[in-house]
Amino acid sequence: MIYLDANATSRLRPGVCELLAKFQNPQLGNPSSIHALGRGARASLRLARNEILKLLAGGEEFPNANLVFTSGGTEANNALVFGFLGEPNRQGGEVICSAIEHPSILEALKRYEQNDWKIRRAQGNEYGIIEPSAILNLLSSDTRLVAVMAANNESGAIQPVGEIARELRERKYCGPIVCDFTQAFGKSELSAKDLFESGVDAISISGHKLGAPSGIGAFVLNQNSAQCRLFNPLIFGGAQEGSLRAGTENLLGALCWAEACRELAIVHERESASRRELRNLLWKLIKENLADAQCLTPGVENHRYESLGNTLFIRIPKMRGDDFVVALDLQGVCASSGAACASGRQDVSYVAQAMGLSRHEAREVIRLSLDWDTTQEMIVRAASCIVAVALSMREETSRGAIAI
Ligand code: PMP
Repeated sequence: MIYLDANATSRLRPGVCELLAKFQNPQLGNPSSIHALGRGARASLRLARNEILKLLAGGEEFPNANLVFTSGGTEANNALVFGFLGEPNRQGGEVICSAIEHPSILEALKRYEQNDWKIRRAQGNEYGIIEPSAILNLLSSDTRLVAVMAANNESGAIQPVGEIARELRERKYCGPIVCDFTQAFGKSELSAKDLFESGVDAISISGHKLGAPSGIGAFVLNQNSAQCRLFNPLIFGGAQEGSLRAGTENLLGALCWAEACRELAIVHERESASRRELRNLLWKLIKENLADAQCLTPGVENHRYESLGNTLFIRIPKMRGDDFVVALDLQGVCASSGAACASGRQDVSYVAQAMGLSRHEAREVIRLSLDWDTTQEMIVRAASCIVAVALSMREETSRGAIAI
């Protein structure tokens, strides 16, 4: 099997597998218990939190960051939306978000829209980049929250979030700015500490995108921000996580995540350079054989903007993305025709549509996202499968066997 769906979930890192093997006879306590086992659990959780924060700050100390563990990125994004805006039926107002946010932001904001709030969605340019002006043009005295992701899960496009936050603050916007950092964390050079310095109040992250198991994530609040002092918890029923997220913490998940961060801190530079090279090689091999294929990820052909080095979002005309993914699966190649959360529902990629593709064209996209252990041999084999599947499906289509 060749796994090219790391943006959906990453394979567990070796250090994480070793750590899990040690827990065959578990001795985990509850971090809230006062006995020795509980105190040990509390100390382990603190160390895990610090390890994750260190990687978030690019290896530096991150003293003014309050990391609150959650069940994953979805909960963290929901917590940020509801935590800053309060109950959807309260007072009303406007929210600015990018049109390409993850559904855990977009669907949460729909609850406000149903209660007569105005949700203003900033469109990306043809490269899928949310220009600062697209956000600033929507700013008004009623703006209560701004949400812009750091890197898009489908296109891999890295967004100018720091610049957006700085310009919003220059315009005297003093409401909360939140950033979904889930895909950028561990896969880009972006530092959450720099984002906080630019004016971002809070970010969300998820463990399984960088080699830990799913079921653990976090939001991180900037403790210097006045907005964060007004933050309301989403989940009640206990004083865990400084009363910002009730419920017994997922200690094993946190330990695995910290281990993945420790390992990543050592290999990140080398790994991300080689992954970028392999991603570019994959595109070159596809393009050489399928001349009409279109690359939608910035930074591959067009170097004006940057992208996650592991992501290749492409369109192969006259080929339905979901059929293509099924055919590739039969050849042992795991890819995706959009975001994992949406592909089960066979949705047409809204990210591709936000880049200017028609609904019909947006059906023809696939996402290939390389993992930490992808090799050149895998890429060469995957490229030849992609080309062979595309050519044979096109032949069938031209014979009328598949209607697109
Ligand atoms: N935000 C982005 C950008 C994502 O890609 C994902 C995962 N699809 C999430 C949030 C949700 O994370 P999780 O799967 O941990 O709930």
